[in-house]
Amino acid sequence: MEDKQDVKPSSDLACARCSKPAKLQCPKCLELGLPKQPSAFCSQDCFKSAWSSHKQAHKPGPHTWAFVTQKGRGRSFSLPPFDWTGSLRPMLVSPYREVPAGIPRPDYAETGIPYSEMESKQQSMVPIRTAKQIEGSRRACHIARTILDKAHAAIRPGITTDDIDRVVHEATVEAGAYPSPLNYGNFPKSVCTSVNEVICHGIPDQRPLQDGDIVNVDVTAYYKGFHGDLNETFVVGTVDDESKKLIRTTLEALQKAIDAVKPGVRYREVGDIISLHVGQQGFQVVRSYCGHGICDLFHCAPNLPHYAHNKAVGVMKEGQIFTIEPMVNMGTYRDMTWPDGWTAVTADGKRSAQFEHTLLVTATGCEVLTKRLPTSPPLWWEEQ
Ligand SMILES: [Zn+2]
Ligand SMILES: [Zn+2]
Repeated sequence: MEDKQDVKPSSDLACARCSKPAKLQCPKCLELGLPKQPSAFCSQDCFKSAWSSHKQAHKPGPHTWAFVTQKGRGRSFSLPPFDWTGSLRPMLVSPYREVPAGIPRPDYAETGIPYSEMESKQQSMVPIRTAKQIEGSRRACHIARTILDKAHAAIRPGITTDDIDRVVHEATVEAGAYPSPLNYGNFPKSVCTSVNEVICHGIPDQRPLQDGDIVNVDVTAYYKGFHGDLNETFVVGTVDDESKKLIRTTLEALQKAIDAVKPGVRYREVGDIISLHVGQQGFQVVRSYCGHGICDLFHCAPNLPHYAHNKAVGVMKEGQIFTIEPMVNMGTYRDMTWPDGWTAVTADGKRSAQFEHTLLVTATGCEVLTKRLPTSPPLWWEEQ
């Protein structure tokens, strides 16, 4: 059997009810392989008084994928009631993949909670990066690019998104990096894979990719203290023309935004540029998810919307690092979130595409830190 569970709680767990050091764990949570922190209690008293709300965690629902992850294959689970917007459904998630002990990891790798981000003053002001930070980001971004290219090369009908997760996980640890999504806010996997109507944050699972699918793979690598973040949307086998147009339009919109980046440009202009191009092609820009600052933290200021007439404040300055990552929908821009708490889907079930780069503002423009390499596999219109 895989995945042995510690029965003794480690001393840094806090009681889920009163936050005192926890000495015991809910036996049902242990049996199900649920995450340790929310199932730890300081005393039988706290455990008993928390029981009526705590026992909800044992039911399939928002936590379903977490315990499928911990306990592994073969465990059947029932889908929570939900108004699914398209034809995609969640499937089993494979057990947690370990990261070798020697690899430096961000704080949330243990707890699931990115305390350093929450406490950072980088949330309110956009930092100008030092030469050392820029070099660290450049390395992390290059590693992330090579990892994404390996995932891209593996895409074909029949492989599961969990296979993609394995490729990404193994390539990441082989490079001496930590896969940033893993346990970020308890995200259970090492990469986001977003198929068809999934806008972003899809959880890799046992569903095989089908001929005609489109899939976005969003890779972030944490290397020696810095995160590099990028994603691309790929075709699986033979894909319809409208989906191909969606994918190409999304990258064109990102490219137009990148071309505009330079010191003095307002952050809010990015959304106008992207929306204009996307609208001309008859598509819509997602509003709920934004680009973000990134460097030693996975997510920090600025918050960078991709839609027109947004209220983002501030202007770009040399030495700032952030992502631009437009999500573009064939139909409505509106999104919904699956009961797993992560998977964002289009409200009308139509398809969505995305591309992302991490950018450094330079004196005259920007450097695309996650740029494609001569060895990068071709995108659909580059294939002969
Ligand atoms: Zn990303
Ligand atoms: Zn990002």
